[in-house]
Amino acid sequence: MKDSAFTLLTPLTQFICDTCGKVIEKPEDGWFEWSFQVDSGRFINDGFRICHDKLTCRQLDDHEHATGNPLSQMVFPQGLPHLYNLLDVGPYHQKQFLGPEVKDFRGYMDIIRRITIPYYEEARQYWDKFILDDNLPPVSERMLYTSSFLIGLIERYSQSEK
Ligand SMILES: [Zn+2]
Repeated sequence: MKDSAFTLLTPLTQFICDTCGKVIEKPEDGWFEWSFQVDSGRFINDGFRICHDKLTCRQLDDHEHATGNPLSQMVFPQGLPHLYNLLDVGPYHQKQFLGPEVKDFRGYMDIIRRITIPYYEEARQYWDKFILDDNLPPVSERMLYTSSFLIGLIERYSQSEK
């Protein structure tokens, strides 16, 4: 259920396809994919994407070093152990694995926020407008990812597009 009259997506359940830009209506319709490099036994993960689970939207199927999972396995909360493993597998597997690691930490955090922070997925499409908007007072780091602030962003910029 949606909490706000201004939002279009159901938080943490519906996503915007990184390929076609259309709404992924439910996790079962989605795919989570990424590429990696192997460097001295370490898996360096990069290029995390959320898209529709269909040939026209999945972009890494033919990639030599890429993998993916159904989006339904990666959404909050059941996807968190897997998402965290991309960064660090923890002490149990420490002997076998030298990684894994992520290449672009900001790109990794963007995916973590998309999966875990309500309204981030919908608000992030207005991020560039927000950054360039001189009419808003500065926002603290603590406020920036709260539901109330993100709903405010969606309200402000989705209205201006109509
Ligand atoms: Zn798509």
